[in-house]
Formats: sequence, structure tokens, C-alpha cells
Amino acid sequence: MGEGLPLFAQPTGLDEALDLAAKYRPLVLAGGTDLMVGARAELGPGPVLDISRVAELKGIAFSADAITIGGGTTWSELVAADLPSGFDGLKAAGLEVGSVQIQNRGTIAGNLCNASPAADGVPPLLTLDATLEMRSATGARHMPLAEFITGNRRTRLEPGELVTAIQVPRRLAYGRSSFLKLGSRRYLVISIVSVGVLLIEGGGRVAEARVAVGACSAVAVRLRALEQALLGRALVPSLADAVEPRHVAGLMPIDDVRGTAGYRRGAAQELICDALRTCIEGRAGGMA
Ligand SMILES: Cc1cc2nc3c(=O)[nH]c(=O)nc-3n(C[C@H](O)[C@H](O)[C@H](O)COP(=O)(O)OP(=O)(O)OC[C@H]3O[C@@H](n4cnc5c(N)ncnc54)[C@H](O)[C@@H]3O)c2cc1C
Repeated sequence: MGEGLPLFAQPTGLDEALDLAAKYRPLVLAGGTDLMVGARAELGPGPVLDISRVAELKGIAFSADAITIGGGTTWSELVAADLPSGFDGLKAAGLEVGSVQIQNRGTIAGNLCNASPAADGVPPLLTLDATLEMRSATGARHMPLAEFITGNRRTRLEPGELVTAIQVPRRLAYGRSSFLKLGSRRYLVISIVSVGVLLIEGGGRVAEARVAVGACSAVAVRLRALEQALLGRALVPSLADAVEPRHVAGLMPIDDVRGTAGYRRGAAQELICDALRTCIEGRAGGMA
């Protein structure tokens, strides 16, 4: 960033990026696909740290306990990766993030740090019990995604920290998963409702169920009562009959140009049923 007023840096190593983040508290830019939309408000005149060339933030690693996705992994890289079935839903979400051009630039960590209520990566990663690894110049910490996002555009990320990786427990990575998104048109659209489902089978029945809904509250949520209601039921498409209005009653959707709160709640129930059937039929999902 030079000796004078630091304006822009594009490091290739994580240590350098973290040192710069600690020293200048810059605006962090990954793919820029969220930041540049709000460019007038957020960019400049302060320093910008472009982390898109930091090698350590890229790639997907498998260990005995976890599958770890580098925070700087783009949606296109994720979609192209050879991943087990628990990631089918996340891949389906990735394929619905904007267009191919956006997927080529936009990163997983960027989607989570931007913390939009409609971020498509959040519901599938909630069903996968994802944990974020955050690093600063002084160390690392880990936090479940469910705790990381605290509100509309609010997270627990501290100044000087980067989200370096997203970890998914291996146990869940081999479940069946799906993602469905309802928008006001077929392509390039913000979710009115989005649903991630993950089911673990035991003897033809539901041994574990995870259902998360996005765009229907300030922060995407898992529907615990529905998850309980699905347990032990036969893993057949009629599993969707178990979804009742009370299971979506706790959602807090807003009225906006894309839909009223009442429309969103009803649509969420329908979309959950569709996502369950999609999952059981072995499809990954996409646009509803
Ligand atoms: C035309 C268009 C369509 C879109 N459609 C969709 C859609 O359908 N669904 C959807 O979910 N999103 C959509 N988006 C939003 C966006 O593409 C995604 O959220 C994307 O994943 C953001 O990633 P990024 O790397 O571009 O983030 P950036 O814009 O670079 O950053 C976003 C925020 O995260 C912070 N940040 C980024 N990476 C890190 C990190 N590693 N550590 C700490 N902070 C970090 C930045 O400081 C910033 O606050 C769309 C955007 C556009 C422009």
C-alpha cells in the first residue's frame, strides 16, 4: 500500500493480507459483486484490500472430520468441484447466484459476509452446520454460521478479520440435499423465498432432517419443529405432507416490492414441500 495514503492493495499471500488488514482496516473486496453494487456508498476514499488473488483462500480440502471450502472460492469453482451429495443443495444455490459472470467473480465468503437476508448460500450452509474460520494478524477463531450472521447486513466479523474458510462436518456432507428458490422471474433474480433441505437416511427413514428458509426473516433460519416432525418418517415424496402452517408461523417476512409477508409465508410452505420432494427424488433443485 506504499508509504503515503494507502488506497489499494492486491496481495497474493494470506499473511500479507492479514497484516494489511490489521494495519489499515481497509474495505475488503473479494469478487466485488456485492460491494460494487453499493459502490457509491461503500467504496472510497478509504483503503481497499483486494483479496481475490490470495492463494490460501482458494480451494476445497477433505480431512477425516470435515470438508473445508476456502473463503475465496468462487461459486463457479464450487459448482465445478467434485463434492459429495450433501453439497448438491449448495451447488444448486450457486448456480442461481446471478449469472455465470457473477458466479465467476462472487465468492462464498462474500455471500456470507454481505449478510443479505436473501443470500442464497446461507440456507444450504445452515443445513450443513457450516462453521466459519476467521483469521486476523493475531490468530484464528471459529464460529457456526448460525451465530455469525446477526441481522440484515450484520455479522460478528471484527475489523481486521477475514473469513478464510467454511467447514462442513463430513458426517453431513454425505446426506441428500436440495435447494429451491422462488423469484419474480426465471433468471438473475433476488430470492423472494429460498429453501435448503438436508436429509440423512437410516433404513429408508429420516434419521436426521435439516430445513432452512432464507429471505423470510432478517436472518435465514432453520425450522426446528418441522425438522423434529420429519424424524422417523418414511423417505418417500409424501414426506412433504408433514409440513404444516405452524411450521412456518415463526418466519418474520417483510412486505416489499417482491411480495407481501403473507405471500412469502405461504410460498415458504409450498417451497419447503417442493424442496423435500426434490431432495427425495434425488434432484438438486434450482429455481422453483
Ligand atoms: C447482478 C447480480 C446478481 C446477483 N444475484 C445474486 C443471487 O441470485 N443470489 C445471491 O445470493 N447473491 C446474488 N448477488 C450478490 C453476490 O454476487 C453474492 O453475494 C456473492 O457471493 C458476493 O461475493 P463477492 O466475493 O463478490 O463479495 P464482495 O462484493 O467482494 O464482498 C461482499 C462483502 O463481504 C466482505 N468480504 C468478502 N470476502 C470476505 C472475506 N473473505 N473475509 C471478510 N470479509 C469479506 C466484503 O468486505 C463485503 O462487505 C448478485 C449480485 C449481482 C451484482
